[in-house]
Amino acid sequence: MSAALALSPEVLAKYQPVIGLEVHVQLLTKTKAFCGCKNEYGGEPNTHVCPVCLGLPGALPFLNKQAVEFAVLAAKAIGCEIRETSIFSRKNYFYPDSPKGYQISQFDKPIAEHGVIVVPDATGAPKRIGVTRLHMEEDAGKSLHDGFPDSATRTYIDLNRCGTPLIEIVSEPDLRTPDEAFEYLTKLKEILLYTGVSDCNMEEGSLRCDANVSVMLKGAAQYGTKAEVKNVNSFRYIRAALEYEIERQIGVLEDGGRVIQESRLWNNGEGRTYSMRSKEQAHDYRYFPEPDLPPLVVGAEWQKQILAAMPELPEARRARLVADYGLSAQDAATLTTDRELGDFFESAAKSAKSPKRVASILLSEITMRLRAAGIELGQSPVTLDGLVLAADLAEAGEISSKQLKQLLDTCFTEGRDFPFVYDRDKPQQISDTSAIEAMIDEVIAANPAQVAQFKGGKRTVAAFFVGQVMRVSKGQANPALLNELVVKKLDA
Ligand code: ADP
Ligand code: ZN
Ligand code: MG
Repeated sequence: MSAALALSPEVLAKYQPVIGLEVHVQLLTKTKAFCGCKNEYGGEPNTHVCPVCLGLPGALPFLNKQAVEFAVLAAKAIGCEIRETSIFSRKNYFYPDSPKGYQISQFDKPIAEHGVIVVPDATGAPKRIGVTRLHMEEDAGKSLHDGFPDSATRTYIDLNRCGTPLIEIVSEPDLRTPDEAFEYLTKLKEILLYTGVSDCNMEEGSLRCDANVSVMLKGAAQYGTKAEVKNVNSFRYIRAALEYEIERQIGVLEDGGRVIQESRLWNNGEGRTYSMRSKEQAHDYRYFPEPDLPPLVVGAEWQKQILAAMPELPEARRARLVADYGLSAQDAATLTTDRELGDFFESAAKSAKSPKRVASILLSEITMRLRAAGIELGQSPVTLDGLVLAADLAEAGEISSKQLKQLLDTCFTEGRDFPFVYDRDKPQQISDTSAIEAMIDEVIAANPAQVAQFKGGKRTVAAFFVGQVMRVSKGQANPALLNELVVKKLDA
């Protein structure tokens, strides 16, 4: 969390924060943006390089078709319009890990503009955040400051990342709180993962975010001066950095100072931002059209071909899961945060008797055990068939929820699928009416207060009796039968 500053809630409430995000996303193409080098994370330093990405004199770039297709797919997924003819430009600056002395990017004619990402606001109502533009560019290499015997005096350069295709997605300054910024990033990542254009892995730097933030007095006609917080490597830290930065800027203004336009770095250990470099004089990148690349033309026909690969996106899928399977909005939302999880659910739901039961077992019992074991869904010992059988047995009341939990525990400890474990360990079940009735009588006799409540009209108390009898039966009472008999007995 961010380091707290000593500002009263009354003072904070006078100001309106304004936030705009710039997100860089590496595309999962096989090769780099402008050469045939492998586009792969890691690798022996300086092995995925060639004259083009090293910027050697005379080497000519050629544009990666797959990068264009991914950029168009991503742009369309966030509702952008595609510019039929876009232009690559050189953005000139010197940086040690960028051997060409410039970055190939797009400037005044980006490939896509005018998108929108819908986020929940503080009340949960949908709020539309404008996407100014999505443009294509290339990544720089990496400076390695640590980890070598002489790191105290030297910096090493790894150029493997040079020329990796990126898209940069720039939002309008439409975000108003750090929470909205968090939601925006979550939605954006979700959509990009669905399209498959990036793995959005923040630890490996495939998704990076610069957060611009300013504050102004509420009702002011003009935005305040912004600061840019660079390269924070998780959404939670971005939220914390914004919280800190908002308070810092308000503190500056309250002290009669002015906010300086600058880039700042987030220090996670200290929970605060530091000034990195002043942006007071606008950086002059001397943009000019890249002379070695022709204008990029993505005509209607090509756009149509690209869009054929557009999957159903999370928002649409959410609505469909509610409509088709009768799921709650909450369950549908959780199941669609991850495309694979949604696919897994739908495959199981199609063959199971109760899709709702499948959702509940998948989202509670299975997810919990995967998390505890530290494994992904793809590594789950309980496969699709296992989930379907478990859901059907639970739905039919042939196993109690306690037995289900025990069986799943066994699956996860032994690394075996549900059908095998169920056949081998077939749990005892008491389906003898008189035996269950005897247990119910016992519980009723022991809990006169709850019986009175039930008789007084609080029928939900029945669940209490079901739970108690389950305990007495060590989880072996047939749940369907038990439910029926409890109500009958209490009503008698
Ligand atoms: P720059 O020229 O410094 O790059 P841009 O106008 O291109 O600034 O905007 C970069 C990002 O900063 C965008 O995401 C935009 O929404 C955001 N932004 C612009 N002005 C402000 C402001 N006053 N406060 C907060 N964010 C802003
Ligand atoms: Zn290369
Ligand atoms: Mg800009």
